[in-house]
Amino acid sequence: MAESDAAFEEREGSCGGAVIHRKMELPEELAALQRFHGHLGVYVTLGLRMGAIGKRRFGHYKGLKALVEARPEPPMRCVLDGIQFSSGCTMGKGNIALEPASEPAVTFEKEGRRLRIVLKPGWREKIDGEMAKEKEIEQSVFYYEIPESDVFEVHDG
Ligand SMILES: [Zn+2]
Repeated sequence: MAESDAAFEEREGSCGGAVIHRKMELPEELAALQRFHGHLGVYVTLGLRMGAIGKRRFGHYKGLKALVEARPEPPMRCVLDGIQFSSGCTMGKGNIALEPASEPAVTFEKEGRRLRIVLKPGWREKIDGEMAKEKEIEQSVFYYEIPESDVFEVHDG
């Protein structure tokens, strides 16, 4: 019950709203993310980018685990759906978990190898300061296209 209430609140609250139909042509992958998550936003898009780094490094999700860190409510929590979308680690398969934290991050682990992805300093503050529901499409496109090395630190270990 609590979970469905939270999902409803997200759709109606600061993170969500109805899916906005605009003439702007979305990249196909972002359009698919929008269908999956219900709307777009900065954090779900950053999650897609983080999951893509993990997928590229480790390949197939078999044997892959993801530990996601985020605030336990949207909008930051939306990073979890983006990571599920692109990494293949999902709640259903039981190979992804969420740990409460103040900054979004993910640690992938496969066959004893680990990869941790965090935002570079200053981005979280910038994102939270600029977030606006009426801009969620353009902000998603921005964070979909920004070079990984501009926004993420990737640590092997
Ligand atoms: Zn969301």
